[in-house]
This record gives sequence, structure tokens and C-alpha cells, in this order.
Amino acid sequence: MNPNRSESQLEIQPEPEKPESALGLNKVDKELDQTDDSSLELGLEYLYRLQDENGNFNLKIDKENNIIVEIQGRNGESFQINDLLPEGIKVKQQISGFLNSRYDDENRCVVISIERLDKEKWQFLLTILHEIGHSNIANDNRVENEELTSLGAKAGIFTAAEMPLEEYKRFIHLLSKNEREAWALSIKYFRKLTKQLDIDARSIFRNKKEFLEYYRKRLATYKNGVGFHLSFWYNKNETEVRDVLQEIPNLFLNDFDEEPTGSI
Ligand SMILES: [Zn+2]
Repeated sequence: MNPNRSESQLEIQPEPEKPESALGLNKVDKELDQTDDSSLELGLEYLYRLQDENGNFNLKIDKENNIIVEIQGRNGESFQINDLLPEGIKVKQQISGFLNSRYDDENRCVVISIERLDKEKWQFLLTILHEIGHSNIANDNRVENEELTSLGAKAGIFTAAEMPLEEYKRFIHLLSKNEREAWALSIKYFRKLTKQLDIDARSIFRNKKEFLEYYRKRLATYKNGVGFHLSFWYNKNETEVRDVLQEIPNLFLNDFDEEPTGSI
């Protein structure tokens, strides 16, 4: 995938043809590990600590600058979020450039912004899980991932002009599919974790509306981005382009919330 992909950039995307149940959710079904502070004896240092009525949300860092994301709920149980990652994928800290968190397929890592974590607190868990969702989706479907990456590179701001409309449409479809699937995975992980660790999801998102707004706002960034690109690079008076422009909101925002949102 585009090594520079971030939530504010255009890159990828397609169409929901897989049911959510097929989105590689097995990882979250594994038994949650019981961990304790013995990790500190393994050369890990705290990079960030959040402690409140919900429990602990900690980032630890090892000597290779790999981050361990650990949450501990009200029942005292802990879980290392890294266990949800495909084999070999690391978590790194965003230190320069885009402040957005992202999945970097080329460098095999999920990059997270501690600044954002500090701002969003527990809500940021959903973003971390979203990026982890991307890593699993990319891992489970390398062919589509490659296609999305190459179309994403082509759809860059200086090269989109040379992109046939059909290709740009394919890109939009793959990108919206990818983003929606990653959020769907994130939400499932989130529900599972908050339940198992006895974290009060309603103290993180006050209600369903706030919960939906969190990821819809981020999906809307993509919706607006591709819409802008399309209007900019193609003649928006052409019927075909108008049709695509009309379809974009549905692709990005017609999401998966018919399913029960659990406790939120
Ligand atoms: Zn994303």
C-alpha cells in the first residue's frame, strides 16, 4: 500500500462484496492475554500513560522503538492490542510529516500519533483499531491491496489528470470499500475489547450518535477528497462524471450501522 497513506490523503478503494463476518475477525476472538507489569523488566519503557475510571491505556516502547499498546479495563484484565496485528507488523510512533495515524504497508507498520491519542484519549482506541483493521485487510487480500496501492499512487494530485475515468472510478470503489471494511473491523474489535475488559463504552462515546460521528467524520474526509479530485480533473458536466459524483456519498457513508452497535 502507499507508504504515505494517511487518513487525509487519497489513495485507495471498491464495493462491499464480502460480508462483515468474513473480514478476518478471528483475531479478536482469541483469548485476551493476561499481562502484567513484568513487561517493564523486558526493557520496555512507558511512552504514554492514561489512567482514569475506565482503567489504563498505555503505550510502551522497546529498544527498537516498537510500541506496545496495552489496555487494562476495570476488571483488571489487560490486553496487548498488538496481538490483533498480522505476523510481523509493528506499531510505530508518528514523529514527522502527517500527524494522522495510518497503516504503512511498505514498511510493515501501523503508525500512530501520540498527539492525537493525548487529545482524543480513549476514543483514539477506535483509530488504532482501524489502522490495525487496514493491516489485516491488506494481509488477507494482497491482490486487491496491490491494485489499490497502484491506483492510489496514480490518483495522486499531480498524476490524476492522466488517469482514465474508468480507472479513477475503480480507485474510488476500492478506496471506499477498504475504508469501510477497516472501520467495520475496528468497531468489532472495539466492542469485543470493551466488553471483555469491562470498559464502559458509554463513557468513551456518550451515545450512538457520537460513536457514529467519530468514524463518519473520517470517512467523509475521503468522500470529500475524491469528490474534489473528480470535479477538478474531469469535466463535471459530463453525465458519467456527474453519476460518479452522485454515487460517492453512498460509497463512503452508506455504511454498516444497520447492525446493532452493542452498548453504544
Ligand atoms: Zn483508513
